[in-house]
Amino acid sequence: MKKQKSIKQTLIGLSVIPVVFIGIALTVISTTTLWNSMTKEVSNSLSIAAHSVYNTYSLVAPGDFREEDGVLMKGDFAIEGDHTIVDALKDSYGMEITLFYGDERKLTTITDGEGKRLTGTKADDQTVHWVLENGREYFSPKVDIGGEDYFGFYIPVLNKDKSVVGMAFAGKKRSDVMNSMQTSVFQSMLICMLVVVTTLLACIGASQKIIRAIKSIMEYLGYLAQSDFSQKMPKSVLRRNDEIGEMGKHAEVVSKSLKDMITTDPLTGLYNRRACKKYLDKWIDTCNKNKKNRITVAIGDIDYFKKINDTYGHDCGDLVLVTVSDIFKRHMGEDGCVARWGGEEFLLVFEEQKKDAEKRLRNMLEEIRAHEFEHDGAHFRITFSFGLNGDVVGKTFDEIVNEADEYLYKGKAGGRDRIVTADHVVTFSS
Ligand code: GH3
Ligand code: MG
Ligand code: MG
Repeated sequence: MKKQKSIKQTLIGLSVIPVVFIGIALTVISTTTLWNSMTKEVSNSLSIAAHSVYNTYSLVAPGDFREEDGVLMKGDFAIEGDHTIVDALKDSYGMEITLFYGDERKLTTITDGEGKRLTGTKADDQTVHWVLENGREYFSPKVDIGGEDYFGFYIPVLNKDKSVVGMAFAGKKRSDVMNSMQTSVFQSMLICMLVVVTTLLACIGASQKIIRAIKSIMEYLGYLAQSDFSQKMPKSVLRRNDEIGEMGKHAEVVSKSLKDMITTDPLTGLYNRRACKKYLDKWIDTCNKNKKNRITVAIGDIDYFKKINDTYGHDCGDLVLVTVSDIFKRHMGEDGCVARWGGEEFLLVFEEQKKDAEKRLRNMLEEIRAHEFEHDGAHFRITFSFGLNGDVVGKTFDEIVNEADEYLYKGKAGGRDRIVTADHVVTFSS
C-alpha cells in the first residue's frame, strides 16, 4: 500500500530546506567577504609600515645603501647593528620590522625563542623572486620566519640608480592576527545563524498555522461524513483571508445544505421523518429518565386530501400542504418540532403536557379550518383529524407513535375533523 504523505512534512520541507540552504550560502559568503576584507586591511596597514621603514631611513641617513668592510652603510652612516630606528617603528606601528640588504636580515625586531634578534638570516625564495628579482611589492598571509608564521609585507629598497639592493618588511604574527579576525568572523557567523534560526522559526510557525487550519477543515469534513452536524468550524479558519479560509467557509455552506437536505422536507421546509425521530428519541429519553410526561405527540392527516388533488390539481394540493405547514410553524415558534411525517400527514411534538398541547393544537386547527383556499375562482376549506398522545413515560418511540396513530384512525372512523386522545374527543363547531 502506498504510504500516505503528510502535508506537514511537505510544507515544513518546502520552507526549511531553502532557508537552510540560503542560510549556509549566506554564512559562507559573508564569512569569506569579511575574511577577505580583513586580510586586505591587514595588508594595507603592513604596507604603510613597510614604506615608512624605507622613508625613515631615507630621511635620517640620506644616500645609497652599500657595504663597506662588511658593514651596512646608508650614505655616510654605518647603520648595521643600530636597531634604534626599527625598534621605534615597531613601537609606533605595533608590528615587527626588518630591513634586508640583499636577501639578508640586517636590522630586525624579530627575535628567536631566547630573545636573540634574527639578524643574518635569509628571506625565502618566493620573496627573493618577487621583491629582489622583480622589484615588486609582496604580501603573504603566511611567511615562515624563524619557525613562526607571519602576515608579512615586503617592499623593494632602491638606491638612487633604481637598482634593488634590499627589502623593507613589516609583519604581524599570524596567530595574533587570526585571533582578532576569528572573533569578528565568529560574530558574523553568529549573526547569520541567528537570522537563519529566526527565519526558520517564522517559516515553521507559519506552516504550522496552515497545517492546523487544514486539519480543522479535515476534522470538520470527517464529522460531516458521519452526518454529525454539531461541529463548529474554528473562528481562526474562517478569519483567514486566503484559499484555506475560503475552503472553511465553503465547508460550512456544504454542511448547511447537507443538513437541510437530510433533515428537512423540500416542499414545506418542515423537519423530515428522520430528523423528527432523532429529536423525539432525545425527548423520550429525558422523559423516561425523569419519569415525567414532559412532551405530547400528535399525528394528523388532512381529511379527504385526495379529493383536493383530484378537484383542483396536484399543484393546488402542494399549496395546501405549504399553507398548513406555515400555520403549524408559526404556532409552534421556537418550541417543539413539526415534521412532515408522510404525504399529507404531520407529526407535532409539543414540549408541554397533554392539556396545554391540546389547547394549542385546537387553536392551530381552528385557524386552518377558517382558512379559505382559492383556486381558479373556486374557494374551499380543509379540516384535519389528529391523534394526540401525552403518555410517553415507559414507552418506546414506536409505541408512542403507534398509539397516536390509533387515535388518528379513530378520528377518521369517527367522522374526521377532530382531535382524539386516550380519554376524550375534541370536535369543532362548524
Ligand atoms: P382521508 O380523509 O382518509 O385521509 O382521505 P385522503 O383522501 O386524505 O387519503 P388518501 O390516503 O386516500 O389520499 C392521500 C392523498 O395525498 C393521495 C396523494 O396523492 C396525496 N399526496 C401525498 N403526497 C402529496 C404531495 O406531496 N402533494 C400533493 N399534492 N398530494 C399528495
Ligand atoms: Mg393519509
Ligand atoms: Mg388524508
